[in-house]
Amino acid sequence: MEISLKDRDKVGVQDAVLLEDFNSSEVFVNNLQKRFNENLIYTNIGPVLVSVNPYKDVGIYSSQYAKEFHKKHFFETTPHIFALTDTAYRSLIEENREQCILISGESGAGKTEASKKVLQYIAEVTGSKGQVEKVKNKLFQSNPVLEAFGNAKTSRNDNSSRFGKYMDVEFDYEGNPVGGNILNYLLEKSRVINQFNGERNFHIFYQLLAGASDTMLNDLLLKRNLESYYYLSHSQKGTCNKEKSAFEELNKALTIIEFTAEEQIDIFKIIASILHLGNIGFVEEEGIASVNNNESIDAVCKLLNCDKEELKNALTHKTIDAKGDVVTSPLDRETAIYARDALAKAIYDKLFTWLVQKINSSLQANTQRKNSVIGILDIYGFEIFQKNNFEQLCINFCNEKLQQLFIDLTLKQEQQEYLKEGIEWHNIDYFDNKIICDLFEMKFKGIISIMDEECLVPGNTNDLTLLKKLNKNLQGHKHFKGFNKMLKKQMKFENNEFQVIHYAGPVVYSVKTFIEKNNDLLFRDLRYAMSNSQHSIIKNIFPKSEVMSMRLPETAFTKFKKSVNDLMKILIDKEPNYIRCIKPNDDKRPSFFDVDIVSHQVTYLGLMENLRVRRAGFAYRRSYESFLKRYKCLCKQTWPHWHGNAKDGVQQLICSLGFENDEYKMGKTKIFIRYPKSLFQTEDAFQRK
Ligand code: ADP
Ligand code: MG
Repeated sequence: MEISLKDRDKVGVQDAVLLEDFNSSEVFVNNLQKRFNENLIYTNIGPVLVSVNPYKDVGIYSSQYAKEFHKKHFFETTPHIFALTDTAYRSLIEENREQCILISGESGAGKTEASKKVLQYIAEVTGSKGQVEKVKNKLFQSNPVLEAFGNAKTSRNDNSSRFGKYMDVEFDYEGNPVGGNILNYLLEKSRVINQFNGERNFHIFYQLLAGASDTMLNDLLLKRNLESYYYLSHSQKGTCNKEKSAFEELNKALTIIEFTAEEQIDIFKIIASILHLGNIGFVEEEGIASVNNNESIDAVCKLLNCDKEELKNALTHKTIDAKGDVVTSPLDRETAIYARDALAKAIYDKLFTWLVQKINSSLQANTQRKNSVIGILDIYGFEIFQKNNFEQLCINFCNEKLQQLFIDLTLKQEQQEYLKEGIEWHNIDYFDNKIICDLFEMKFKGIISIMDEECLVPGNTNDLTLLKKLNKNLQGHKHFKGFNKMLKKQMKFENNEFQVIHYAGPVVYSVKTFIEKNNDLLFRDLRYAMSNSQHSIIKNIFPKSEVMSMRLPETAFTKFKKSVNDLMKILIDKEPNYIRCIKPNDDKRPSFFDVDIVSHQVTYLGLMENLRVRRAGFAYRRSYESFLKRYKCLCKQTWPHWHGNAKDGVQQLICSLGFENDEYKMGKTKIFIRYPKSLFQTEDAFQRK
């Protein structure tokens, strides 16, 4: 941990708690930059690991390197993902405390790569006997599968995960991985039907078209070129060899995870059917839509094994059951297209969840014993764009909840350590974002409730009536600002927008399409048609029981809220380890550090708040043994050998170094040093020796 003055100037400090000025984000970012320029991409804030994406191979992930970490307890000296994982793993094995590793950051910041490094490290330092090896292999191979179906090229990241993921790795009493379980969150299913300029649909579509054999393609009634498919026609063009080999890798992975040959072909049939579905067009006569293209609908029905007339009807009609009165009415062309797209999205989304469940049953540990786990969370960090929508509101709500957890757990952890060490605890003054979580979650008056009410209550509601209701109910809330003519100029936002003051800063959201997205409607006729399919997966993911159910479907946000709260319950019992990922620039460019872009993320990741909470206590703590070992040469009484216990030795040392009373505290096993300066003076004296 200790470094000389000269080094501090050049490569910065490796733990930001050692920065003299811990309130200045400028100083903090400057420190990151110094390190980044030396290819030191990791920096700690106490136990929190900050990682800046180098966009190049920095040569620090070899298997040899990982083993060094394990052997040497390297974590005391170098910030690294391996070090963090080692600490987590040791606490699990040696102290039987369940762990979670929480990775956050913007798209492209390196979250998914980080989660892979965590797995890599676990694999490196654990056993390799038959069953263990098999489990490890499956854990690894779940990645290419989930990435093929859940990742896409975006403007920010060529391999961007379009879903949140929480993965439990289960360990037996010997510390070997014996199973796992994955939870998935909010797949960005709108990507199936449309993509922004320069972006692409999910990888799997390109992989299938590039990698399938001619026979297979023929069986799926597909042509190889992307232009044939409406859902791919807007996306960035061109497939390449990479896609072909990725398809091979995917097939291998599916086999390792024990998908049967039949299931594999059924999966690809669904993917193909979505492409055909997108090609179904409609004509309209007197406001009534009908399918104009038999070839595509034939293909869908053949692949999904469903009835053509039924599907045709379902795509162009809507049946409403109003208190027992069943009324079927035809759709106009626009609504038919909407229904078709909703079906494509629903099929893809459900297929994805089905895949995750299949992977989970294959990862199921085959013991009755309760295993202990390390959970790894790779989830979108706080998002703030030019235009913020429903998706950002969901994501940012999730981040508020994670921040709440961070506060609970970090403060609890600090408190516990002080208690354990017998040091008096003084309450830390920090911003508790519970008030913002409540703004979302309050019964009746919270944002989510109000949205649900506007969605579920029949009548003439739309995005703007929703906004009105939000304004009316939340006016005066410290963290909510609605549109207000008087304030328009001042606020710089439009009449379909509102603002939430998040813990990380204010974000303006547009209510456009909120109702539609929250309703997440798939007409009953289509659900019914799907539930009648004879395709093994489709009939499974559209169960009859659901179609028949009379209950109002849950809205998208409420579903998400529940899954986030379930996640919090899982995490709250675990010891957290934080990795905060930062991207250095917006161009995926190696060796380029854009100060503005980094500063923005430092703010939205709440890193300064992290640092403040950490520094409110003691900047530095270290076991008596290791402190004495390093500095004993600075004191006559302790050099060259100290014969008493380490604590007394450190006390001697501290006295002879002239530490003031308020500079340090002696715990049961550790010395706590309040200010970095005291440590640096000691260190510099050491360097001069
Ligand atoms: P996120 O999941 O946060 O969106 P990724 O983990 O997919 O971001 O990383 C985006 C890209 O950045 C990767 O495809 C890789 O090229 C690069 N990258 C990320 N982390 C590292 C790293 N530690 N070393 C080198 N390159 C990295
Ligand atoms: Mg990712």
